[in-house]
Amino acid sequence: MDAKVIILLIWGLLLNVYCYAQQTKNPKDQKPNFIFIVADDLGYGDLGFTGSHQIKTPNIDRLAYEGTSFTNGYVSSPVCSPSRAGFLTGRNQVSFGHDNNIDGSQLGFDPDFLGLPLSEKTIADRLKPMGYICGLVGKWHLGDKPQFHPLKRGFDEFWGYTGGGHNYFNSEPDGEGYLSPIECNYKSPAPITYLTDDKGKECVDFIRRHKNEPFFLFASFNAPHSPMQATEKDLALFSHIKDEKRRIYCAMVHRLDINVGRIIEAIKEEGLAENTLIAFISDNGGPRGNASVNAPFNGQKGILLEGGVRVPFILNWKGVVPSGKIYAHPVTSLDFAPTFVETAGGRVSKEDKMDGVNLIPYINGEKLGVPHQELKWRFTISAAIRDGDWKLVRLPDRLPMLYNLKNDISEQQNVALKNIEITRDLLKKLGKWDVEQPHPVFLEGAIWKGLQLEEYDKDYLLVQPK
Ligand code: CA
Repeated sequence: MDAKVIILLIWGLLLNVYCYAQQTKNPKDQKPNFIFIVADDLGYGDLGFTGSHQIKTPNIDRLAYEGTSFTNGYVSSPVCSPSRAGFLTGRNQVSFGHDNNIDGSQLGFDPDFLGLPLSEKTIADRLKPMGYICGLVGKWHLGDKPQFHPLKRGFDEFWGYTGGGHNYFNSEPDGEGYLSPIECNYKSPAPITYLTDDKGKECVDFIRRHKNEPFFLFASFNAPHSPMQATEKDLALFSHIKDEKRRIYCAMVHRLDINVGRIIEAIKEEGLAENTLIAFISDNGGPRGNASVNAPFNGQKGILLEGGVRVPFILNWKGVVPSGKIYAHPVTSLDFAPTFVETAGGRVSKEDKMDGVNLIPYINGEKLGVPHQELKWRFTISAAIRDGDWKLVRLPDRLPMLYNLKNDISEQQNVALKNIEITRDLLKKLGKWDVEQPHPVFLEGAIWKGLQLEEYDKDYLLVQPK
């Protein structure tokens, strides 16, 4: 046999193997899909499964009840942009200088660095080379300059806006900020109807278009972030609530839930439920400004008490993630990136310097122990550490505050002086970590620092309103 014949024979054999592989391909052999649903400024206690009496959220509850919900789930920052920088990279954003919210350029700081540092890889950057199509629907808030654009950070598709929020009813062709036009790289965006509905619709469209390939969808809702705007129809459902802002807020969360339901239904209809991991969180705690309720937690968005950083936290994957499980060890939004990457078949190495871990082996019992003995936060002038049940908060204008979260979930009793050794030990750990971190690459507006300290002295609603 001459060489030509051998090559032809081998070629024919390979072609047969390929055709056979194509015929036997079924969805279960495919890499899993990931849908990462993020609410914005949602109060911890404002969902059915976290205790709300006023707002019914059957769809988000279903994700929680049919999946695993985490009672000690944290974000790495109490405000939007750094929280997103953390969970999209799996690294505590403080370790690459993204401590602060994006807030215009400041004296002495180079505005070209006002965004997620280009040294960092997003979940999309990591999944894309593994054959994933990656889409972002909604809010970005990781830099407005071209170099920070989501399409340059691993995403193949983008329907949304790069800023921190948006008007729910309008945009203008030359509008800026909350009135900026909706950007999209794969279709001409239709006029906004109600933004939360439009995002739900685009998420469903993404799922239907990409059902035959592994996908990562970042469903970045901005409900219930301000501006406080709801439809008349949804407001009517809450007409019994006297406080107008709270009424609007409840209507906004209700509409968020409806659209989470649309995503769940699309996954079901396309037969993808057994091959899709759905995660849900809020990017930070609820602020006073949108009439949210973080009960039973004290504090709010922007501060490091539990109300600022402990959030509703769900993983759902039919047949893989335990159904109806409540996981109580502390976990962090930094865990999503390694969870997705490793579940997709990738490897997270030491060089990736991720602070998060893959949660799947912990929740299905393969791995014993806790995912995190310690969690640390640094935000503008504040810092905090949680070590087991102890939590210490350090502010520049007062003595350190120590709480035992097991006995005092609402952080009402500062027991620092009664437990001076623990206080000293945690201060040392926090201080050592703090000085090892780089200087922030940009600062938050100075006004927020003073306002933030005042928020630690205010009273918060620690029980659910009727
Ligand atoms: Ca937020």
